[in-house]
Amino acid sequence: MTSGSPAPTTKPGCGICAIIDRIKAGSFRDFIAELNSCYVILGDQQLYRGYCVLLAKIHATELYLMPADSSRLLFDEMRLVADAIAAVVKPWKMNYECLGNSEPHVHWHLLPRYETDEMRRGPIWLRPESERKVILDENDRRALIGSIRIQLAARFHDARIPPG
Ligand SMILES: [Zn+2]
Repeated sequence: MTSGSPAPTTKPGCGICAIIDRIKAGSFRDFIAELNSCYVILGDQQLYRGYCVLLAKIHATELYLMPADSSRLLFDEMRLVADAIAAVVKPWKMNYECLGNSEPHVHWHLLPRYETDEMRRGPIWLRPESERKVILDENDRRALIGSIRIQLAARFHDARIPPG
């Protein structure tokens, strides 16, 4: 790398960096918005309607290995994304999880939880994945993404939020 060139933001072999590359190429269908610190995507387990994942733009394997300012910005943006999701789906409770055991690139799961869920007192991961992985029908998926984008646009004035 020549001096003065920007640091690479994606790392070969990282599954989350691969998703970020697809977002940048315009080929990731569940992309919702690009914020200053992260990308917001719709999660693939819509049993928890409104479930989104925030992917840090910086490839870091741990929060404490991120530059402090970057991790604070990510936290501030996560808080507002949670507020935006809640405005759409009105959850009983919002769960925030930063795990990274499967994909060690900092990302936050924002999981709306509902009173109708008999397993609501525990983390979602106790439920079999086959039950969690609810795929919305296309019209519903687009409508949900559209509603979240409207709420994000009201909170992030400098974000890249595609129309619709
Ligand atoms: Zn990565």
